[in-house]
Amino acid sequence: MDTVWVLGDQLNRRISSLEDRTPDDARILMIESAAKIGSKRYHRQRLHLVITAMRRFAAELEDAGFEVDYREAPSFAAGLDAHRADHNPDDVIAMEPMSYSMLERLGDLGVTTTRSNQFLCHYEEFAGWADGRNRLVMEDFYRRQREKLGYLMDGDEPAGGAWNFDKDNREPPPKDGRSWPEPVTSRLDELDAEVIEALPDSAFGWEPDGVWATSRRAALARLRHVVDEVLPIFGPHEDAMLSGEWSMGHTLLSPYLNLGLLYPDEVCDAAEEAYRAGRVPIASAEGFIRQIIGWREYVWGTYWLWMPEYRTVNQLGADRPLPPLYTSGSTDMRCVSEALRAVHEHGYAHHIQRLMVLGNLALLTGVVPQQMVEWMWASFVDGAEWVMLPNVLGMGLYADGGQMATKPYAAGGNYINKMSDYCGDCAFHPKKRVGSEACPFTTLYWDFLERNRSTLDGNHRLARQLSAADRLQDMGDVRDRAAEVLERLDGGEL
Ligand code: SF4
Repeated sequence: MDTVWVLGDQLNRRISSLEDRTPDDARILMIESAAKIGSKRYHRQRLHLVITAMRRFAAELEDAGFEVDYREAPSFAAGLDAHRADHNPDDVIAMEPMSYSMLERLGDLGVTTTRSNQFLCHYEEFAGWADGRNRLVMEDFYRRQREKLGYLMDGDEPAGGAWNFDKDNREPPPKDGRSWPEPVTSRLDELDAEVIEALPDSAFGWEPDGVWATSRRAALARLRHVVDEVLPIFGPHEDAMLSGEWSMGHTLLSPYLNLGLLYPDEVCDAAEEAYRAGRVPIASAEGFIRQIIGWREYVWGTYWLWMPEYRTVNQLGADRPLPPLYTSGSTDMRCVSEALRAVHEHGYAHHIQRLMVLGNLALLTGVVPQQMVEWMWASFVDGAEWVMLPNVLGMGLYADGGQMATKPYAAGGNYINKMSDYCGDCAFHPKKRVGSEACPFTTLYWDFLERNRSTLDGNHRLARQLSAADRLQDMGDVRDRAAEVLERLDGGEL
């Protein structure tokens, strides 16, 4: 009999290694690797989510009649060896994993792989699309996905008369005091308690509180809630940030997609159906579907296309260790403390907090890109190498020198002020670049442009900003203030 090895981010009966299998022709292997669990200082809610979801999926397969060999082992290799010794399978089969290193490891361990079906565009297909292109423009890929998959298409034309409604989705935060739908939570049970009890001491962050679904059934309930309550208001303020609003109308579905609890087609089908029924406006439906079939699949494709070289890129030569505030959460910068509070409490921050606040600060201060990747990978419930390398190295830190983004996502305090309500209560002033009240983002923005001048010169998308930097009369004072800010950040005093 064959063994199907189900990895911890493939928790679905639809995975290609399992979809045609029956209890009569396959036994299941699942391995909790202590080496993997101890490999980073993970957020408690992330570890709880993955381990609990694995155990619930194992129970589901047992209920369906499968024999499940669920092992807690020192490593994947040790768990597989022990399984082979006990069961002597004809073959061990796994669906292609999510990470490059795991694919190599499966090969070394003699595991047969089946083609991944967890994405709508397999990475080999993506490589075919990318072949011969000078630039891999996400929008071009997205339109191809729309045409191929048929989402939001009226014949050959895009529904609503446009491919992209992003311009409608960049509204600043609303000033009407509106409230956003509360995320759905699940009651914790005995299994949750058992997993929480055994979490390693190294894990950080709040205890799991039921906000993250740990079964497919609960993930499907979250999807229904999103379509009914969140999507109708999702779009216009998706790039805005508000104090005390950690989820703010974001769908919070990424962990389920990344663990296989939900498949991308069923999520997009649900959004399309709601749009067609007139329950969700086109800008919201399009923005949401673009995130799934566009950005998410683009990130997945670029990860495989550029690995393994991509994980070491550092084109700006950034060499600052990750400032202590990322792990302590303690800072006078209101925008940063709000984003880090969300991370600490929920293992999550929405995409604009990740990019405009946490990533932007790492970019402006010159944090070693790989240290930022490690921190984000370990700290977020939806973290994974394939997610973090393109998003952090490419989009956030410009460490690939423009392979992914056409210019660094660098922003001063004014932009954060426009898109949030943080600055009013902050110790600093977003418009000031020098002096003790100067916003660290604003000071560091100008300092960043000057520090990286030789690399950024020639980037026509930055020409206006670079020439504005040239015209600054107080650049010497900016430099002094930047040095002071960086020293205080290094010392954990800001
Ligand atoms: Fe952040 Fe600067 Fe605004 Fe303070 S003033 S919240 S540090 S952008």
